[in-house]
Amino acid sequence: MDGIDDSVTRRAEDVLRRVFGYGAFRGRQAEVIGHVAAGGDALVIMPTGGGKSLCYQIPALLRPGVGVVVSPLIALMRDQVAALRDAGVAAAFLNSSLDGAAAYEVERQVLAGALDLLYVSPERAVMPRFLDMLEQTEVALFALDEAHCVSQWGHDFRPEYRQLNVLHERFPKVPRIALTATADADTRADIARRLNLEAAKLILAGFDRPNIAYGVSEGDGARQRLLRFIRDRHPGEAGIVYCLSRKTVEATAAWLAAEGLDALPYHAGLDAAVREANQDRFTKGEGVIVVATVAFGMGIDKPNVRFVAHLNLPRSIEAYYQETGRAGRDGLPADAWMDYDVADVVAQRRMIEESPSDESRKRVERAKLNALVGYCESASCRRQVLLGYFGETLAEPCGNCDACLEPIDAFDGSVLAQMALSAAYRTGQRFGSGHLIDVLLGKASDKVTRFGHDRLKTFGIGAETDEKVWRAVLRQLVAQSLLEPDPEAFGGLRLTEAARPVLRGEQAVRLRRPRIVVRKSAGRGRGRVAGLPDQVAPQDGALWTALRACRLELARQQNLPPYVIFHDATLLAMLHARPESLDDFAALPGVGGRKLERYGAIFLAVIQAHPATPPV
Ligand code: ADP
Ligand code: ZN
Repeated sequence: MDGIDDSVTRRAEDVLRRVFGYGAFRGRQAEVIGHVAAGGDALVIMPTGGGKSLCYQIPALLRPGVGVVVSPLIALMRDQVAALRDAGVAAAFLNSSLDGAAAYEVERQVLAGALDLLYVSPERAVMPRFLDMLEQTEVALFALDEAHCVSQWGHDFRPEYRQLNVLHERFPKVPRIALTATADADTRADIARRLNLEAAKLILAGFDRPNIAYGVSEGDGARQRLLRFIRDRHPGEAGIVYCLSRKTVEATAAWLAAEGLDALPYHAGLDAAVREANQDRFTKGEGVIVVATVAFGMGIDKPNVRFVAHLNLPRSIEAYYQETGRAGRDGLPADAWMDYDVADVVAQRRMIEESPSDESRKRVERAKLNALVGYCESASCRRQVLLGYFGETLAEPCGNCDACLEPIDAFDGSVLAQMALSAAYRTGQRFGSGHLIDVLLGKASDKVTRFGHDRLKTFGIGAETDEKVWRAVLRQLVAQSLLEPDPEAFGGLRLTEAARPVLRGEQAVRLRRPRIVVRKSAGRGRGRVAGLPDQVAPQDGALWTALRACRLELARQQNLPPYVIFHDATLLAMLHARPESLDDFAALPGVGGRKLERYGAIFLAVIQAHPATPPV
């Protein structure tokens, strides 16, 4: 490393410590910051929660002039600016939510060179008036956040992003940094091309989010399983529950609330004021659960979302990874829980087949759905499947997913599959699973005798196997596309082409044994107390509650989300380090100079009021 790089790195580390209160850079942050601070362009791809913001905030502080950040979401802008100001950074935003006088005041500060960071909407960034203003001051850099908005391939296309090249044309010497969490290689190339960043340094961070524990749950009573999961693993903690339809959202939110949880609905059909109020309760409260359609999520950067649950199959692995990425941005343990129901797979398969799209489009959609089913059906590490989908290999099983923590029992199910397939075949391929199971078990029900199925060779051949197992076998045969529902026979199951080699014994079938037990806080949470996160020892419960109450009160006074004051990680560090002086307090992660000044004494008083008691 040459001399210049060295001193930039040292200055960057100094800002990281002094302003943000963190001891070390994460992943590839130092590399990006060094490059941009020295005047280079960069395209940064990092997963949600990877720490993208510091990648432009620190270079903006190191370089002379104001760093201009283009951000598509007004709500996010407001929170980011509030957090920066609370850390003592001169930051402001310009967007349509400001009235004339407030906007004028911000412009005055820009022209006076008084700002380090200015957040603007894309519409504003390309206005001639705005660009003229920038000509009259010094610009440190342009940061283009959520850069995938420039691409139609991405999921949140914003046409105004296409015009952002004007920034480069008007200010060719100012470095630009574009940032996104979008994984997909086509989208990435499209972003570079559209923003003229082909020559920029590409920083592609790994996609793994090791603190998120992935898991899939299946069987009867999805709602009850969800409730047990929340009560068991996340009592009193914030989370998001995704459902497919508005109706399910409403019903689930009402049901969870009736069960005593702090749950609120969110979907596009709700009144805008209700939607905003519910989102506000979620970000500004502690431990609120939002039950939502996928309309909820963009623009939520609450760091302590402890779980994301899906009650319906997501649209694709990309969508699933994006949605679950909203959990655990603060790096503390979080859960991604999904209910897997073969009925959803069947419905999605039908939607694809019946859609008016052409065959090549359908082929892509089938492949995406099959990849998702592959994830749900996987008997090996879920994270290896997810990362593999994004072209990354994880050499070892992760040790933090349900398949790793509680190995799924997979076995050669060829014989069971043959029995079930032949039962479907011999009954004429028009009966549903209930009837097929009766035949397999040898139950002479009215329907079985009426159709003479008690005289078939398959009648009773599966009597040794439990009914629950047969249900799981039939589900998996549908998921593996060996059986499919026949829409003309009211959902009766018929064989697919792929079933022939299985029946002839030429192809083996792997099956998973259904899991009867529900996972309890596996691997962690020994000796935990209801309502406390895993990292809090029972004897620290009272102090933890007091610290959270203190943070919530300070946040309320300033109308800010609590995490803007301190993250959970900082509160946990207070529990463990028990600082006794302002010097001790300054050493906690997330405590910069300004936070020390404003909040140090207040939190020290709370800590002193709860002297440590030895564990009993
Ligand atoms: P992204 O925009 O990539 O989703 P953020 O920039 O919001 O991620 O950062 C995620 C969280 O990680 C934030 O709470 C941030 O304060 C924290 N963070 C970022 N960099 C560091 C670091 N070097 N050390 C400790 N915490 C960090
Ligand atoms: Zn794993």
